[in-house]
Amino acid sequence: MRSLVIGLFCGALGLGPTAAISQNAQHWVPPAPHIPGEDLVHKTASQAGFDAWVADFKTRARREGISETVLDRAFRGIEYNSDVIAKDRRQSEFTKQIWDYLDSAASPTRVSNGQRAMRQHSRTLDAIERQYGVDKYVVSAIWGVESAYGATRGDINVIEAMATLAYDGRRGRFFEQQLMSALKIVQAGDTHPRNMKGSWAGAMGHTQFIPTSFEAFAVDGDGDGKRDIWSNDPTDALASTAAYLARHGWNTGQPWGVEVILPSGFDYSSARRDNMRSPGDWAARGVVGIDGKPVPNYGRASILLPAGAAGAAFMIFDNFAVLERYNKADAYVIGVGHLSDRLKGGPGIQASWPRGYAPLSFKEKKEMQRILKREGFLDDKVDGIVGPNTINAIRDYQTSIGVTPDGYPSQTLLQHLKS
Ligand code: CA
Repeated sequence: MRSLVIGLFCGALGLGPTAAISQNAQHWVPPAPHIPGEDLVHKTASQAGFDAWVADFKTRARREGISETVLDRAFRGIEYNSDVIAKDRRQSEFTKQIWDYLDSAASPTRVSNGQRAMRQHSRTLDAIERQYGVDKYVVSAIWGVESAYGATRGDINVIEAMATLAYDGRRGRFFEQQLMSALKIVQAGDTHPRNMKGSWAGAMGHTQFIPTSFEAFAVDGDGDGKRDIWSNDPTDALASTAAYLARHGWNTGQPWGVEVILPSGFDYSSARRDNMRSPGDWAARGVVGIDGKPVPNYGRASILLPAGAAGAAFMIFDNFAVLERYNKADAYVIGVGHLSDRLKGGPGIQASWPRGYAPLSFKEKKEMQRILKREGFLDDKVDGIVGPNTINAIRDYQTSIGVTPDGYPSQTLLQHLKS
């Protein structure tokens, strides 16, 4: 999710992958399709309809090998939860600018609470870093962003939430898969259904794993035989997060990215994710760290301008893409990355942001895409989601009218397109 406008999903900051979610991202809940006029919880859903659905689902679960005992325990007292549906309906159209997101992700409180949590769990974090080769500051930053270091883990019964969303039918297959996975976790003995708490969207524990991610990647960090990411002790959750990043190719010793200074006359069209160069190569083009020196050779990198030419610039490395496996949003990855730097004692972001700028609304983004498509710059669907194809279409349009091709979907750009 590129760009700055992000949808509300799970996690302590209400950041989710509404725009440009990768179908390959395994940690995340897919965004709901936006259906105009469907903002209210539909009144036709009934407990009787839900119960009938659960009975059908149990037949499918038995075929998958879920035992009668687990089904009984898991569904005892489970009801259709209209609050979950209301939350799902509300999450579609909310936008937040990257600077607002970063203000919250790396707020002074989140930094100081994180440093305290890291001191408290230093032996655990050191052991996890040694075992998985993943920076303990990054693991801690994910913990901080996802649940404020365990303070906001979610208190919704995940079986009930997943069953309700599966019955509701929008993304029904996805949530049925999560429900099945949750039952397998119970059957494996990792936890009791009543302890399986999380967000309305099924993100569980200190670092907010959805059930399928848990099944694939969670580990038993403290060696007691259970993968317990829900308990007050964060060991299993933190180890699971490190294991998740390691499995997705974390490069030990490589930063997520570093803030850089661009030279005057910088070729903005070279700031694209598929243009990977060595830091030395970038230095030869005048791109240097905020200390004015070439960035050390951490590996190949591209230049990311999350707020276009008017905001901060980052040189991002392969680990940026590894963090995207947690959440595809640029704002999320920069938020986690920057918080990790701050936990280490690093400085704030040096460049200023174009604060006060009004973001394009969902409707305006669709209007922008419609015009880009009509004018032959965009060959993709008009969905109000600003992903890589839309950003490249914006750049091509900007180049055609002779303005800085930063790919940023601003009000100014929309005015140009409309004129
Ligand atoms: Ca354990």
